[in-house]
Amino acid sequence: MGYFYDFHVHSSECSGCAATGIAEMVRVCKDVGYSGFVLTNHFLTGNNCIPAELSWEEKVMRYWNAYLEGKKVGDEIDFDVFFGLEHHYGNAREILIYGIDAEFLIGIPDFCSLSAEEICDRVHAYGGFVSHSHPFRERGYIPSGDYLMDLSYVDAIEIYNSANREIEDERAEALCREMNLAYTAGNDLHFAPHLKSFPHAGLEFDRRIRTDEELVSALKNREGRLRFTGERYFK
Ligand SMILES: [Zn+2]
Ligand SMILES: [Zn+2]
Repeated sequence: MGYFYDFHVHSSECSGCAATGIAEMVRVCKDVGYSGFVLTNHFLTGNNCIPAELSWEEKVMRYWNAYLEGKKVGDEIDFDVFFGLEHHYGNAREILIYGIDAEFLIGIPDFCSLSAEEICDRVHAYGGFVSHSHPFRERGYIPSGDYLMDLSYVDAIEIYNSANREIEDERAEALCREMNLAYTAGNDLHFAPHLKSFPHAGLEFDRRIRTDEELVSALKNREGRLRFTGERYFK
């Protein structure tokens, strides 16, 4: 058994649709066997619960502080917590961003008005990594039509999302292969008790990942193996 990480987790401090706080999320994920996760809360153009009247820096710090709280709990129980974001770039399409921090975001006050492609360029210049979230998810809240960004800008595609239907992930995996991109996987967890009924999904690595640099290099080197157990929530 290697080291098992979830690359898509929300918490109620920042994501409007999440019902579990970061401290409990860390403990529950540790209990079910994860070595760590990346906290990828919905950023400000997505389903967030950050007060609109805050300044840019204060808004960014809400995300960063949720991460710091998770990292503190994680450090106590030997569980690795990383900072990331899920950014909505339009038409209910989203990207997962890894290897960035509060300083990066504070330095880009117009972040939310940048195109997805421009954001990818900025993230890469900072040493980060971008994976497209669930590109073929079909739901009532997602307009149908080909609204995907230029995928040549992303590093990876999320090929397994526990909240997806199998056919949606199969299409993502086929595209990932066709484009020869790296991949990520996760539960898109919003509510910790879902781990009782969701599959446990993520990537398994031979080495433990302790820093953002290691996280990005392990993803770029495609060291992670897709792992999931259990039944899908949506059929
Ligand atoms: Zn959500
Ligand atoms: Zn999500």
